[in-house]
Amino acid sequence: TAHIIDGKAFAANLRSRIATQVSALKERGITPGLAVVLVGEDPASQVYVRSKGKMTVEVGMNSWQHKLPADTPEADLLALIDTLNNDPAVNGILVQLPLPGHMDESAVINSIAPEKDVDGFTLLNVGLLATGQKAMVPCTPLGCLMMLRDHLGSLSGKRAVVIGRSNIVGKPMAQLLLRDSATVTIAHSRTTDLEAICREADILVAAVGRAHFVKADWIKPGATVIDVGINRTDDGLVGDVDYAEAVKVAGAITPVPGGVGPMTIACLLANTLTATARANGLPDPEGLTP
Ligand code: NAD
Repeated sequence: TAHIIDGKAFAANLRSRIATQVSALKERGITPGLAVVLVGEDPASQVYVRSKGKMTVEVGMNSWQHKLPADTPEADLLALIDTLNNDPAVNGILVQLPLPGHMDESAVINSIAPEKDVDGFTLLNVGLLATGQKAMVPCTPLGCLMMLRDHLGSLSGKRAVVIGRSNIVGKPMAQLLLRDSATVTIAHSRTTDLEAICREADILVAAVGRAHFVKADWIKPGATVIDVGINRTDDGLVGDVDYAEAVKVAGAITPVPGGVGPMTIACLLANTLTATARANGLPDPEGLTP
């Protein structure tokens, strides 16, 4: 059966390495700081923001949470972001998505100073990643990449299939795999022959948002399977992969929960540390960037 990639343990280890580097920065009088902005009362977003704040404090960083009512005018949110952009104590800014319907999500995201854009969603960071330059990289795919490299070593020449083409997971995941010289296919809702395409994958990343979507017989024996999906079902939280059957075929697989999820938050802290180092003219911290 498959090796279970323990994202929870991997993330704990990553956070402890980050904490060590935060202490070293503090000795030089630099304390990394992350500001998280939440607009409205979406329950899932509230949970994410709370746990992001808790983890930020645990690694020794400053954490600020700005909670705005759902009917906040967009101009007020933009004014807050402008203040954070100009606050030297703030190294990272994260606006929790989704935003209320009356706001232009793209305009809000792109008002974040690119060097503080720890989600890597601004146009500049998307372009830097796509052209292979130093960028802030989206947290979820960055965490997936770290686990893949840890398990497989070099990804060069491997056949990778990413199911999902969202801007926050699928597309940046494909960019990162390409950057590591994998041969990358992006599959999506209009893909024909999806099963056959998946069967060619040495690396299969599922970011679809449908419980048990990827079946065991779509998986090439021995393949490494990264399950990004988070789906609430009557049986609790499950991923996009039919895990119980897939473990019998895959070479390695990430569980849900305990796989990609914890790595995403750890990578947010990694990006905040990277942003802090860059803001202070220091080299990028070891092992936290692609
Ligand atoms: P999304 O809804 O934006 O994108 C889903 C993608 O799946 C789309 O590109 C679509 O083309 C593709 N898709 C839908 N139906 C398909 C089908 N029948 N066949 C092939 N492709 C199909 O979602 P997202 O934001 O990319 O997130 C994907 C999943 O990952 C969700 O379950 C989300 O909750 C989860 N997620 C997890 C984390 C984490 O930290 N673990 C972070 C972000 C997202």
